[in-house]
Amino acid sequence: MGPGVRRVSSLCPVTYDGAALRARLERAATTTATAGLDALLVSPGPDLRYLAGYDAVALERLTCLVVPATGAPVLVAPRLERAAALASPIGSLGLEVVTWDEHDDPYALTASLVPTARRVAVDDRMWAVKALALQAALPDATVSAAGVVLRELRMRKDAAEVEALRRAGEAIDRVHARVPEWLRPGRTERVVGRNIADAILAKKHAHVDFVIVGSGPNGASPHHELSDRVLQPGDAVVVDIGGAMPDGYCSDSTRTYSIGVPEPEFADAYAVLQAAQEAGCATAAPGVPCEEVDEAARRVMRDAGLGELFLHRTGHGIGLETHEDPYVVAGNILPLEPGMAFSIEPGFYRDGRHGARIEDIVVCTERGSERLNLTPRELVVLDV
Ligand code: ZN
Ligand code: ZN
Ligand code: ZN
Repeated sequence: MGPGVRRVSSLCPVTYDGAALRARLERAATTTATAGLDALLVSPGPDLRYLAGYDAVALERLTCLVVPATGAPVLVAPRLERAAALASPIGSLGLEVVTWDEHDDPYALTASLVPTARRVAVDDRMWAVKALALQAALPDATVSAAGVVLRELRMRKDAAEVEALRRAGEAIDRVHARVPEWLRPGRTERVVGRNIADAILAKKHAHVDFVIVGSGPNGASPHHELSDRVLQPGDAVVVDIGGAMPDGYCSDSTRTYSIGVPEPEFADAYAVLQAAQEAGCATAAPGVPCEEVDEAARRVMRDAGLGELFLHRTGHGIGLETHEDPYVVAGNILPLEPGMAFSIEPGFYRDGRHGARIEDIVVCTERGSERLNLTPRELVVLDV
């Protein structure tokens, strides 16, 4: 994508709540101070979109939101991006935009905005060349990753964000509802994948993030995407799909389908998997450590002798990124809080044979948790 090419999202205007963004910027400054940092330096990506509603394209030229621990945030941007920046909520929030010309040094300019800084943090997704150039421009400062600060904000979703994730969940559910039409013997994973990608866009996503159609033995690789393998009767097919809505919030849901009658060993393991996913969801509630949700699902698999086949953590947080905090994994003792949203997606994988996974996005509520994906979780057995 070159400069001047805007994303699909500009075709579907997104409205931002100015008061909410202002509150986020204030909280980011407070959290920065609490962490003993002097400033956050945030380049285009999910953190910038979260803090200022600016869905900027990441280019080699530096765009950087400077959030000092005390004082007003300032956006550093190339002159040619000024209009785009001001058209975003940056303009309506009244943030100062400092522009640089092609022959200027944007790193020295950024450094001059935080002249006394000794500890700064850059967003986790900042390109290494930019982070290194900022470090060079701030020789007396230590540069660390801002994720530890921003995760504290981003993993606690407000009501509007939960609503956005609910819309994303509904949209991807509508795609899953159509998948049985496309999974026919004789078609390839790639052709099915194209149908799914088209439907993800038709169901109001701004872009497709991933389409996994893991048929037969390909299902045993959790992150298999698409191949030219032809679907055959008796195949189990793992379909894990997701995209981002125009407001940036992501969908991610997995269902497993069987083309014709599954082999009994698969059907038996699938029944256990469904119980494990249910146990994970039933355990998620305020105050429950993330690792306990993982353990609840894993215990069901282990007790049925399938523990070794469950290769990955139970889930990941989701929001403006498909994978973000909090991670539902052994060792994460973080207690869940209302507004935290994450996947619960146990699976089993038998090399060379088949795989299965069931994935819902779940949000922690005041009393327990709520699933945002509602298509049936039973093994979908398709007639052949
Ligand atoms: Zn994944
Ligand atoms: Zn996932
Ligand atoms: Zn997924």
